[in-house]
Amino acid sequence: MATFSELGLSAPLLKALTEMGIEIPSPIQEQAIPILTGERRNFIGLAQTGTGKTAAFGLPLLETLKTDVKHTQALILAPTRELGQQIAQQLQLFAKYMPAIRIQVVYGGASIVEQIRALRQTPHILIATPGRLMDLMQRKALSITDISHVILDEADEMLNMGFKEDIDEILSHTPEDKVTWLFSATMPRDIRRIVSKYMPEAAEVAVNKGGEMNKKIKHQFVVVRESDKTEALKRFVGVQDDMRAIVFCRTKIATQALSEDLKRADVKAEALHGDMSQAQRDQVMKRFKAGSLKMLVATDVAARGIDVNDLTHVFHHSMPDSLPYYTHRSGRTARAGKDGISMAFVNSAEVRKLKMFERELELKFEKVLIPQSSEIGVIKLTSWAEAIAAVKPVAGNKQIEDKIEELFADFSKEELVAKLVTAEMKKLSFDTKDLNDTRATGDRRDEGRSDSRSSRSSSTGGTRFFINIGEYDRMSTRELADLIIEQTKLPSSEVTVVKMEERHSYFEVPAQHAEKVPKDFTEYMLGSREIRVNRADQGGSRRDGGDRGGYSIRRDGGRGGFSGGRRDGGSGSGGSGRREGGSGGRSFGGGGDRRREGGPRRDGGRR
Ligand code: AMP
Repeated sequence: MATFSELGLSAPLLKALTEMGIEIPSPIQEQAIPILTGERRNFIGLAQTGTGKTAAFGLPLLETLKTDVKHTQALILAPTRELGQQIAQQLQLFAKYMPAIRIQVVYGGASIVEQIRALRQTPHILIATPGRLMDLMQRKALSITDISHVILDEADEMLNMGFKEDIDEILSHTPEDKVTWLFSATMPRDIRRIVSKYMPEAAEVAVNKGGEMNKKIKHQFVVVRESDKTEALKRFVGVQDDMRAIVFCRTKIATQALSEDLKRADVKAEALHGDMSQAQRDQVMKRFKAGSLKMLVATDVAARGIDVNDLTHVFHHSMPDSLPYYTHRSGRTARAGKDGISMAFVNSAEVRKLKMFERELELKFEKVLIPQSSEIGVIKLTSWAEAIAAVKPVAGNKQIEDKIEELFADFSKEELVAKLVTAEMKKLSFDTKDLNDTRATGDRRDEGRSDSRSSRSSSTGGTRFFINIGEYDRMSTRELADLIIEQTKLPSSEVTVVKMEERHSYFEVPAQHAEKVPKDFTEYMLGSREIRVNRADQGGSRRDGGDRGGYSIRRDGGRGGFSGGRRDGGSGSGGSGRREGGSGGRSFGGGGDRRREGGPRRDGGRR
C-alpha cells in the first residue's frame, strides 16, 4: 500500500493532508492519483461519495495547476450546492500551503451579483452547479474557453437531475485540448455517451463500493459503554482460541493503554504505533507473524504496512472518523480467500454513525452480543476437563494415594466431580456483568440490571417473574426467552428476559398474562430439575432459587445443562467435549466451529 508521498504528491499537499489526519490513500486515490498526476489524459473514476474521490481528483489537480497563469484552469461541475460547497471546502484545506491558488464555488439559490463580483478575482479552480454556471456564462461573468481541466463530479446524479443539455452546452464552450475527468457511482448509457463524445481514450478506474469490498468480510457491531470496551474485547478473545486480530484505536496513547490492559489479562497482545522505532515494530510484527501474539493494537497509520493473511478479526475499539478508514481497516481481514469479521465497538451515541457507514458503504452491520463471562467459564472449564481426561494415570506415592482414598471415601464419583468443578470455577474469577449496552436499541434487559436485585417490580409496565434458570444452566437470554415462549405459547414480542443471574433470571410479560404464566410451568422439568416460576413481587427470588444439586459437565443435548455430575450420554467420545454440546446449548459450543458462527451469539435475549 503506497503512501501519499509515494504517489508523487509534493510537500505542501503532504503537509496539509497530515494536518487533516488523512494519511493513508483510499483505493480510488491510490489508483487515480498516479494517473492524474502523470501525462494529461481523460479519466473515468467509478466511485461514490465517501470513497475519497474528491481528494482523488482534487490533489492531482492542485499538483498540476499553474499559479502564474491568470485565467481559470479547472472547472468542476457538481450536481448540488452542498456537494459544490464540500468540494470547495476540501480543496481549500488541501491547498492550505499553496497560498497562491484561488478557488471559488458558485451555485444557484445564492446572490448571483455577489458571485459575479467574486469572479472578478478569476479563480484558478471554479466549482459550479450546471444551472448557475449557464446563467453566469450568459452574463459573461466568466470564461471557460481557456480551461485545461473539466471535472464532472457525480456525473450520474447530474444527469438524473436533468442537467444533460446544460452539460452538453457547457462542454461545447471548453477547448478541444482540455482533459476531462469524470466521476460517477454508476455508468448509465447517457454517461457512456458523454464519454465517447468528449473523452477519447479515457483511462478507467473502478473502486468497489463498501458492500462489494470483500464479500467474505462479515461486518458486525456490539453496543457497549465506553468504559466496558476493553472488558468486552477480552470476552471475545476468551471465547475464541484461534483468534488473530488487529484492534484499531484512534490514538497512540489508546493503543498503548489497551495493549497493557490486555497483557495484564494474559492476552498475548502488543501495540503498534508511530512512536515506536522501526526495529521495535519489526520485532512486534515478527512475533505476530510467528503466532506468538494474538493481537496487534494499532493506529490506522501504523497498521498500514501490515501484510498478514490470516486475521480472523478486525476490531474497531473506536470507530474511524471517515469511511475510507473503515474500508482500510476491515480490508485487513478476510484475505486470501478466507473469512473474516470486522467488528465495531460502538457506544450508544455512535449507533447513528454506524448507520451512516452502513448506508454510505452499502454494508449491513449485524448486531451481536458480547459473550457473557459464563460462556468463557464453560470454555475454560471444558479445556480443563479435557486436559484432565487426557492425563494417563501413573503409579504414584502410596502414602499420598492412601490419604486421598481416606479423604474421599465418603463421596460418590458424581460428588467428587462436582466438587472438582466447583473448585476450578472458583479459580476463574470473572466480571459477571452483562456488558451489552442496550439503551440504544431499547432492549429492556438493561433496565433490569439496575433493579433486578433490589426491586421486584416491573420496569416495563408488565409483570415480572422469577424463574430458577440462570447462567449456570448454560443458557443464553435468547434461549431462555425461547423456552418461556415455547412453554407459555405467548408471542415472542410479549416475553422479555430482563436479567439473568447465576442461578435464576427475571422475565416480564404483559400484566394480562400474569395469572397464566406460573401455571404454564407447573410440573415443568428441566432435566432432573423442577422449574419454578413466581411473580417477582411475591418473594420468588431466594438465592437458592429452588435449584437442586450442583453443576456438572453434562452434555446430553438437553436444556438441562448442569444436573448433578453425570455425563449422561449424548457427547460420545472423549477429548472433544468442547466441540460438542446439545441442541439447546450455546452457539460457541455447538457445531464445532465457533468462528463460523460469528463468535458471539446473535442478537438475542429481547423478545
Ligand atoms: P469524499 O468521498 O471525497 O466525499 O470523501 C469523504 C470523506 O473522507 C471526506 O471527509 C474526506 O476528508 C475523507 N477522506 C478522503 N480521503 C481520505 C483518506 N485517504 N483517508 C481518510 N479519510 C479520507
